[in-house]
Amino acid sequence: METTYDVIVVGGGVIGSALLYTLSNFTDVKSVLLLEKGWIGAGSSSSDSNSQTLHIGDIETNYSTEKIIETGTAARLILKYGKTLKGEEKERTIQPVQKMVLGVGDEEVELIEKRYDRRFIELFPHIKTMGRAEIGKVEPMVVKGRAADEKIIAAYSKDGHMVDFGRLANSFIANSSKDGIKVSIGEEVVSIKKRDYGYVVKTNKSEHCGRFVVFAAGGYSLYFAKSLGYGKDLSLLSVGGNFYYSRKVIRGKVYRVQKGSVPFAAVHADVDINRKNITRYGPTVNVVPYLEKSDYESAYKYLKAMGLDKETASSLINITEDKDIQRILESNLVYSVPELGKYFFLKEEVNKIVPTLKYGDLEFFSQGGGIRPQIIDKRKRKLVLGVVDLGGEGIEFCMAPSPGASACLKEGLRYALSATKYLDLDFNKGRYYKMFCDNEREYRILTKPSY
Ligand SMILES: Cc1cc2nc3c(=O)[nH]c(=O)nc-3n(C[C@H](O)[C@H](O)[C@H](O)COP(=O)(O)OP(=O)(O)OC[C@H]3O[C@@H](n4cnc5c(N)ncnc54)[C@H](O)[C@@H]3O)c2cc1C
Repeated sequence: METTYDVIVVGGGVIGSALLYTLSNFTDVKSVLLLEKGWIGAGSSSSDSNSQTLHIGDIETNYSTEKIIETGTAARLILKYGKTLKGEEKERTIQPVQKMVLGVGDEEVELIEKRYDRRFIELFPHIKTMGRAEIGKVEPMVVKGRAADEKIIAAYSKDGHMVDFGRLANSFIANSSKDGIKVSIGEEVVSIKKRDYGYVVKTNKSEHCGRFVVFAAGGYSLYFAKSLGYGKDLSLLSVGGNFYYSRKVIRGKVYRVQKGSVPFAAVHADVDINRKNITRYGPTVNVVPYLEKSDYESAYKYLKAMGLDKETASSLINITEDKDIQRILESNLVYSVPELGKYFFLKEEVNKIVPTLKYGDLEFFSQGGGIRPQIIDKRKRKLVLGVVDLGGEGIEFCMAPSPGASACLKEGLRYALSATKYLDLDFNKGRYYKMFCDNEREYRILTKPSY
């Protein structure tokens, strides 16, 4: 006989795992099943797939004030969770790191000078703007060999963090112990059907019933949403991101300025939380016709999630008319040409950060990189920045490009609240407050849908 669960979570990335943790520790939900087709934390959340940055909004030059407040409030939950970890687990999951956003040339220098005015610094007193000499003290290789007449400026913080989000997902699962919690690895959801009360979730192994279902399955979430008739106003662009690496030359994280309303970070250089002897550069930006890295069989589901209609076509035209997006797509097209691409990536991106790095120093990070499920709002004909939550009756769908991993606990909270409300069960706000919240305003920001 099939079992009925209060909640079924599809996807064991950092968001599905954060939801499981929140349900198990702060609600009286009796039974939860998490279904993961691969391994916990092995999708976009794996440390090789993403840039490992805890985005709080202080060095992200493409964020609006509202986005900064929302991102920072969400990301700080991870730091609070990190305080509960000990010893090696803590060390390998979350680490402090210095970071900066670097402006190169007149236009970018002016942009940073304008953005980091007195008002901004009041919001982030730990941020310090610095010129060439000071940059040279904290990141010597950013200055070494740079033309004397090339203007540079940085907004710097010594209080950044890098996170192994894949390990964090595993930590959430390990701290979700409670009777009634079940995690099934290697079980893939193939379809979902609504029934009178709840849903029947069919997998490659079995059938399960869930009174409330949450899809935290990357781009696949939109595919399943559309199979149930939701998300008609949304479309999807799978934006692949790859990395290169060299021997370690950078001490922390050095981001480049991102301009306009581009919904992802510009190329940056990072230390790697698991490989301290290298510096990583990326991610590149390539639009790919599948939902998962190197999974060409997901192309059909990608087309279904995208929905090839007039509105999608018109949105794509509008998006590619944006000057900044055009510039990024054109240069990344060049970067994808074998051998020559690496040369241009070095000259146009890496050497803007580390001027002395040579062609032979740079290697393609073949096991790294991932896919950002970048959502298109067809009504606005625009790409959405960050996570998109899509709700239906007794069901939620989460699509999370960057900085989605930094918002995992916020998403976990939102879906846990949505599930308990729908199922008429309790959410222990007092307990949650004690662990995560400093005031009601913060709680309000956290419980607002991401989009
Ligand atoms: C290049 C790159 C750089 C990034 N850098 C950052 C960064 O620095 N900071 C940041 O905060 N974010 C960053 N991100 C974004 C971040 O990686 C994602 O927002 C986050 O990992 C999404 O988590 P998730 O749990 O939604 O997805 P995932 O980690 O992809 O998890 C989804 C899971 O669902 C499973 N699944 C899919 N379909 C099914 C099915 N049918 N049945 C069962 N299981 C299924 C998958 O196997 C997978 O494990 C970056 C992303 C990329 C690609």
